[in-house]
Amino acid sequence: MGLNATMIDWLWSNNKFLGIEWHFWKVIGWLGNAAFFARFMVQWFASEKRKRVVVPVSFWWLSLCGSFCLLTYALFYQKDSVFIFAYAFTWIPYIRNLMLQKRTALGSQTQCAFCSEASSANAKFCWNCGSALPARAEGRSELVGKEEA
Ligand SMILES: [Zn+2]
Repeated sequence: MGLNATMIDWLWSNNKFLGIEWHFWKVIGWLGNAAFFARFMVQWFASEKRKRVVVPVSFWWLSLCGSFCLLTYALFYQKDSVFIFAYAFTWIPYIRNLMLQKRTALGSQTQCAFCSEASSANAKFCWNCGSALPARAEGRSELVGKEEA
């Protein structure tokens, strides 16, 4: 019995891999855990890259996938009210944030004069530094044009 045998025993013994008895719901549950773990890594990496707190779109997608996996795990396998409640409503802000992010990406943007970060065109304040954004002149003339037509 060498170190190799001990390691193999730890990895795979009594039909258990890493000491876990694997079946369909265990895979779903661990996929949820993996998604939740990955989202923090993704968010941390994005923030370190820009040297400021950033929440990338992938964070919300991973959150949505993770909460979906863990909610199904809680509903169909764990069947525990505490566990079910913990993931029952978290998908609402995730989807809302994805909607807002898409709207910002699709719509025209206003650049902040102080931090040069882009905000949604209809935003009144910079999302990053909180400075007031200038009222958009083009938006107004567009509206006047529509009223005249
Ligand atoms: Zn700003």
